[in-house]
Amino acid sequence: MAPSRQRLPKETAIVIGGGIAGLLAARELATAGVKVTLVEKRDHLGGSVGAHRVAGLVLDSGAEAFATRTQDVANLLEELGLADKIVSPNSSGSWLYLPEGAAPAPRTGILGIPGDLRDPSVKNILTRKGMRRAKLDRLLPASAGENAKTLGDLVRVRMGQEVLDRLVAPVVSGVHSMHPNQLELATIAPTLKQKIAQLGSLAAASATLRQASPAGAQVSGIEGGMNVLSEALVDDLRRKRVRILTGFDAIAIDRDPITHDWTLIQRQPEAGEKAAAISGKYLVMASDGATAARLLGPHMPAGLAPSVASSPEIALVTLVVDQPALNSNPRGTGLLVSEEVQTVRAKAMTHASAKWAWVRERAGENRHVVRLSYGRGTDSGPLQEVNLYDDQLITLALHDASKLFDVSLTKSHLVGADVVRWSSAVPTASPGHREKTAAFREGLKNLDGVTAVGAWVAGTGLAAVTRDTRETLQTFISQQRGAAERSAAAEKAELADGTPVEAFEEPQN
Ligand SMILES: Cc1cc2nc3c(=O)[nH]c(=O)nc-3n(C[C@H](O)[C@H](O)[C@H](O)COP(=O)(O)OP(=O)(O)OC[C@H]3O[C@@H](n4cnc5c(N)ncnc54)[C@H](O)[C@@H]3O)c2cc1C
Repeated sequence: MAPSRQRLPKETAIVIGGGIAGLLAARELATAGVKVTLVEKRDHLGGSVGAHRVAGLVLDSGAEAFATRTQDVANLLEELGLADKIVSPNSSGSWLYLPEGAAPAPRTGILGIPGDLRDPSVKNILTRKGMRRAKLDRLLPASAGENAKTLGDLVRVRMGQEVLDRLVAPVVSGVHSMHPNQLELATIAPTLKQKIAQLGSLAAASATLRQASPAGAQVSGIEGGMNVLSEALVDDLRRKRVRILTGFDAIAIDRDPITHDWTLIQRQPEAGEKAAAISGKYLVMASDGATAARLLGPHMPAGLAPSVASSPEIALVTLVVDQPALNSNPRGTGLLVSEEVQTVRAKAMTHASAKWAWVRERAGENRHVVRLSYGRGTDSGPLQEVNLYDDQLITLALHDASKLFDVSLTKSHLVGADVVRWSSAVPTASPGHREKTAAFREGLKNLDGVTAVGAWVAGTGLAAVTRDTRETLQTFISQQRGAAERSAAAEKAELADGTPVEAFEEPQN
């Protein structure tokens, strides 16, 4: 989708949040001629799509790939002149780590749901009893599971507990930091039930959705990392003269009762910093859900601001090691770890230098980049891994990586390490989430000139966020354009027959 052709010149807008959603929203508005100010509370832009330097290598500190089931991210990269930087991951695929050890993960479906039960890698993971139960999926009526609210419910009803525990849960909690029993089906896989109704089984539905991705991998990356996308968007915003303020933590929003302009109230600036007064006719909330509800709640009709569950804490530990035994990519591109495993605390491990050729080339011979993630969302209490100090987490990660690779990795192999912690970064999509976000967006219609974007309304992942942000902003711009035209027509009518403009304008807040 190309940027909007609708124009709103001379208008002003504020965007709160400098993640991909905020950067994209600012870009759409600036392309429409709006004078935009974007504020970001951290000192860097890109949100969950950022970079860090480990052992001299610039690597992704958050997202490292994008889903290819739609063209949205690829189109955006093309617009930004980055089409030739799109790369595919190593085709060796990922593995699962189960209580009895490591096994290649099946590659026939989505979210760990097997698309073909005859696939030897599925047979390898399920017991005979588990396989017999999974095969019931084909015999059950298509309506079985139609009332399931969570992904876990649906898989259990159609394929049984073993498929859920050994195939689906490791993949889903590795990617979404939540157990499938907590994840709302309508958010994580909105078309899955519809496909079962059409095709008669969960396996067929899963296989079909997998095939929706072009041949080859389900994800692509960018040479240099996904952080190149954030950087390119920021450069583009600077060219479009968007005012960007980092270190700006918006803690409240005011609305002028006469002009209806929005003004941001900033957390007390640090000593020596100047407080900035930011206001604009339009407001785009591109933060996490809890912040959006907190800031916009006071302006919304009672009951319409949703209560948003706090997001799971995630810690990513990146290890750069010298270990020739990893040259053969013993676990493909990485592993997802079953919750039933007692000997490893990580929920997932990416062998980045096996997955991406550019990482391998930049790392050099015998040097490897491995990233382990901690924080399943179901863990609680002070003993959670995410609460450990950085050096403790690095020690734990070395231990976990040794186990997962079955290759010795000690401090003597370590060339560099870094810990990145994410909070409020992955929305908690528990049952009712989709309804809540839809009601929130509906409620925003009561407020003139405001819209909300970001993963908490769009769904997690760059593909979902890119598509939703661009669609939402194009609709928003076209609505505001319509409102501006109506107001100009009213003014003209006033000039023509003396009717006061106010007679046409119903203040909405
Ligand atoms: C560790 C990790 C790995 C991931 N890996 C992948 C992947 O490989 N592929 C994929 O597709 N997706 C991945 N994702 C998900 C994907 O990165 C996100 O869905 C997407 O980037 C979300 O973008 P966003 O702009 O909605 O939110 P965010 O990136 O969270 O940005 C929101 C921004 O708002 C700012 N903000 C919040 N409150 C305020 C305030 N009051 N004032 C000012 N600013 C504020 C925040 O600081 C933040 O920068 C990953 C996510 C994480 C956390």
